[in-house]
Amino acid sequence: MTLAPARTERALRGPREGRSNGQWAVDGHEPLNGNEVFKAEGPPLEVRERIETIYAKEGFDAIPSEDLRGRFRWWGLYTQRKPGIDGGRTASLEPEELEDKYFMLRVRTDGQALDTRALRVLGDISSEFARGSADISDRQNIQYHWIRIEDVPEIWRRLESVGLETTTACGDSPRGFLGSPVAGIAADEIIDPTPVILEIKRRFIGDPDLANLPRKFKTAVTGHPSLDVVHEINDISLVGVVHPDLGPGYDLWVGGGLSTAPRLAERIGVFVSEDEAAEVWHSVIKIFRDYGYRRLRNKARLKFLLADWGVERFRQVLEDEYLGHGLPDGPAPEVPAVPGDHVGVHAQKDGRFYVGAAPTVGRVGGSTLAGLADLMDRVGAGRVRFTAFQKLVILDVPADGVDDLVAGLQGLGLTATPSPFRRATMACTGIEFCKLAIVDTKDTATEVIRDLEQRLADVQLDRPIALNLNGCPNSCARIQTADIGLKGQVITVDGEQVAGYQVHLGGGLAGEGREEAGLGRTVRGLKVPATELADYVERLTRRFVAAREPDESFA
Ligand code: SF4
Repeated sequence: MTLAPARTERALRGPREGRSNGQWAVDGHEPLNGNEVFKAEGPPLEVRERIETIYAKEGFDAIPSEDLRGRFRWWGLYTQRKPGIDGGRTASLEPEELEDKYFMLRVRTDGQALDTRALRVLGDISSEFARGSADISDRQNIQYHWIRIEDVPEIWRRLESVGLETTTACGDSPRGFLGSPVAGIAADEIIDPTPVILEIKRRFIGDPDLANLPRKFKTAVTGHPSLDVVHEINDISLVGVVHPDLGPGYDLWVGGGLSTAPRLAERIGVFVSEDEAAEVWHSVIKIFRDYGYRRLRNKARLKFLLADWGVERFRQVLEDEYLGHGLPDGPAPEVPAVPGDHVGVHAQKDGRFYVGAAPTVGRVGGSTLAGLADLMDRVGAGRVRFTAFQKLVILDVPADGVDDLVAGLQGLGLTATPSPFRRATMACTGIEFCKLAIVDTKDTATEVIRDLEQRLADVQLDRPIALNLNGCPNSCARIQTADIGLKGQVITVDGEQVAGYQVHLGGGLAGEGREEAGLGRTVRGLKVPATELADYVERLTRRFVAAREPDESFA
């Protein structure tokens, strides 16, 4: 097995100098591509009014293309893929040939704890408007499918009645935040991130001044030592640390992101107090808005600007141009001793318990959500949060309700004691609904997990091996930071074109058996047909277990 060399910085270089790269602060606001044109011509957030007053009444065919395939994203709406279109045809079809007259709708939770009323609303929307579909995404969102435009205003009304929203859930905007699933309850928490998340949401989500960014902007905030929000791969992360003189606060990380040019975030080296965190977030997103590259979409993430500028210049611009004052140097977070998925039963600081449970690859559905709400009411557990690993954590479980809850979860298909593969496998939406997909992911992963649970029942793993599946070269399921990352593509076997995967090995985040995050590397020349995936992972796992040194991680 030969691994391709690690990616060089070349892939991350910004666009060429000597021409306008669409940096507003340098080049002015002249729109340089189709996306920039439609954003300049009509502020994306304003499409909501047209949805409510025109499209929901007149139906799908009344929606013009620049709203349908452009501005709708700012309210969490994407058209979904027509059923039955072969992955080999994805790249050759026009959008209108690929898309169905139904939508995927993304609901952001921003790490918020949902009570059982909110959970029932999510479940009812799934059952009434989404043919029972609902997936927990790896950004703590709920994603529905089969949504009709006619139903969207009623869905918004119901979501907003329980404090949920779809505002800037997609689009070139501040996307849903990752927040620690155990915020405010964990005994070992350094700082509760809830006030910071709420302040940023209250002040800045839905702000038209931040709704035309070069591209998406992802945020993560945690105060838990397990570093449970995958902070290394967000555009901005605030990570709880204790400053020796100033007490608890946050360490600022900037410029992470995966996709086709993956890059891990870097520490800026500053300590951010709780009081100043929202202002620092606002300054960083404005730097991205003003200096981010807009000419080429594939260079328009913050990571490219950081790769060009470097950490020192970024810090200087942040302090001098945006905040107007310096920030103290601060410590780095410690390497986590426990995994950040929170699976299993754990004591809270108030004597109650939280229980992390695993659906299979994030699939929950309306009846499961409603059943979970009933179960939580029965055992007296008040709240639930989603995780960055397509899992969920039930909070505030009384000691005498833990056993009943764990048994009830099992009955709902949500286990608190998952096998290592069920625990650590993630899959993106894939060909079932995604217009960019080349292969299936969720059903394939579900089958592979089932197979591996049987085949590897005799193998003891001291930590799970993360198996992440993407349906195309994008990285919605974070293949580059998995032990085994699988990138979907059409491959040729015995002259026939079949669904398969390119393999990346050895990626991971800090604390997953490693000191710091690292990107996986492509296995040269290896393409695994989807039908042989379980064989391949079984072989690999057995070889790893047989050859490893004590304490050696998969990476
Ligand atoms: Fe769609 Fe590709 Fe993202 Fe999967 S990785 S959800 S196939 S864009």
